[in-house]
Amino acid sequence: MNEMTCESGVKLLMEYLEGTLAGDVRAEVEAHVAACPRCVAFIASYRETPRLVRELTAAEIPADLVASLRVHLRAHRRESRLSTSRWNRR
Ligand SMILES: [Zn+2]
Repeated sequence: MNEMTCESGVKLLMEYLEGTLAGDVRAEVEAHVAACPRCVAFIASYRETPRLVRELTAAEIPADLVASLRVHLRAHRRESRLSTSRWNRR
């Protein structure tokens, strides 16, 4: 496996900080950061600056959950419309 460079690491670090990295990649990033003061400094500055990013991450809903909710709501809406027309006919 190639050793992680800071150039490729920065992009992964962003995802690492957002908590979107898969476990094995995250371990790789952690291993790199442990041996790289530059990346430690990057994380430190990143963590201090945008509180907004952390709030967004905390409120993050998994995309597939959103998608299935949307499908559910659409089906539910169609269902209630059908039952309403059935009531009107009676
Ligand atoms: Zn680095």
